[in-house]
Amino acid sequence: MALTLFNTLGRELQPFEPLTPGKVGFYGCGPTVYNYAHIGNLRAYVLHDILVRTLRRRGLAVTHVMNITDVGHLSGDNDEGDDKMVRSAEERGKSVLEVADFYTQAFFNDTDRMNISRPTVVCKATEYIPDMIALIKRIEERGFTYFAGGNLYFDISRFPAYGELARLRLDELKTGARTGVDENKRNPQDFVLWFTKSKFENQALVWDSPWGRGYPGWHIECSAMSVRCLGETFDIHAGGIDHVPIHHTNEIAQSEAATGKHPWVKYWLHNEFLVLDKGKMSKSTGGFLTLQSLVDAGYAPLDYRYFLLSGHYRSQLQFSYQSLDGARNARKSLLDRIRALADKAGFLPGEGEGTGSASAPWESKAETYCGAFDKALDDDLSTPRALAELWGLLRDSSVPAEVALATVFDMDQVLGLDLAEAVERRNASGTGHCGESQELIAEIEALIAERALAKKAKNFAQADGIRQRLKEQGIILEDGPAGTTWRRG
Ligand code: AMP
Ligand code: ZN
Repeated sequence: MALTLFNTLGRELQPFEPLTPGKVGFYGCGPTVYNYAHIGNLRAYVLHDILVRTLRRRGLAVTHVMNITDVGHLSGDNDEGDDKMVRSAEERGKSVLEVADFYTQAFFNDTDRMNISRPTVVCKATEYIPDMIALIKRIEERGFTYFAGGNLYFDISRFPAYGELARLRLDELKTGARTGVDENKRNPQDFVLWFTKSKFENQALVWDSPWGRGYPGWHIECSAMSVRCLGETFDIHAGGIDHVPIHHTNEIAQSEAATGKHPWVKYWLHNEFLVLDKGKMSKSTGGFLTLQSLVDAGYAPLDYRYFLLSGHYRSQLQFSYQSLDGARNARKSLLDRIRALADKAGFLPGEGEGTGSASAPWESKAETYCGAFDKALDDDLSTPRALAELWGLLRDSSVPAEVALATVFDMDQVLGLDLAEAVERRNASGTGHCGESQELIAEIEALIAERALAKKAKNFAQADGIRQRLKEQGIILEDGPAGTTWRRG
């Protein structure tokens, strides 16, 4: 079975076929850095990570682009309310850029702790203003804009496909239009491309533009940065489900209006929300949980990652400390089992290079689990089923420890639960590598993990090569009951 993804555009499961064979362009909407990410936001980034890891496991070269919103995002996605960055800066007595820097670092500190791979390219909105202006000019030249009350608006009536992603019915929207929205708008769904007459006298960041000194609307940044980094059409765009009716709908309208290309993006993926037992979590109301608040309550960031993987990204997930306890216990049992396997592994057949047999029954059994694991991911990234296959393998005592271990580490390339590192950390501390730099220890451990995978793949020449390379640096590997350990020779 090929990788199948649920495309919001069309509302169906579709086989994934990249626009350019072997390559994938992926844009995931990033954070607005006016506060810490809440644990609901982190759900979105775990989905992006699982997607990227799965695509890479399928041998595809993925360019993952993420934006950092540091300008233009108002508290209402449709141009209503305060500017989130400006308000946060005022409350904290800092400049907008200081606030943005602080929370950008905090964001990556959280994602690193959760083992969320860093994007290939990270774009700060304030560094792409010329791209935004250039894109807006193209939209204007093609007749999709009007200027009113000092702002440049996108005119949705000029774009017949408006609302296709969200299946919006424009006639219904018109009759149900709210009053009290921006009076300059011809249609309630029109949106600002460029503010020159700021709603806020204290607007911190402004730039010159053909429409006057001002700043961009929020939606244009994602169109401009993705087109700049990935081209005028690309494969996948993702974000939370809340982005379907406004943000992503407007991104599509702007991008397709500017380029004339349809569809701008081939696959749209949306994660459902993480909800608290009390209801919705929101960054702007302040009532939200951060990763650090979970850590302060005694949970590891990877307990939370495990918790998220146990739900499918398209189902709403209810957060409670009771469920997080369940995830923490499950992860602890997982690590205990893996460490027990590592203890056993040295005594089992297949341990020495060149002694394995390709037709050993346990090999094909491990491959069956691995195949089912990949199938689960191929089925719209079903991490709950992938975890179940991992557990099935660990519970199957007919698979020798070393084979099971190598397979588990292989599965963890996608799950990102740091399973190999957990075993190796213990080995490293057990053998007391005092005085060695953390970098060296990490490098050796990575090579040990690579060697285990090479052995699993019966690539004994590569496994021997790694042993030899380390020997030349004075590092001796020893395969023993607790797995592979190392010492200075
Ligand atoms: P923001 O920083 O507010 O722009 O949001 C960052 C990402 O988190 C976006 O993709 C949102 O759609 C997503 N998001 C916001 N709230 C939640 C939630 N409670 N659960 C899951 N995803 C969310
Ligand atoms: Zn976006």
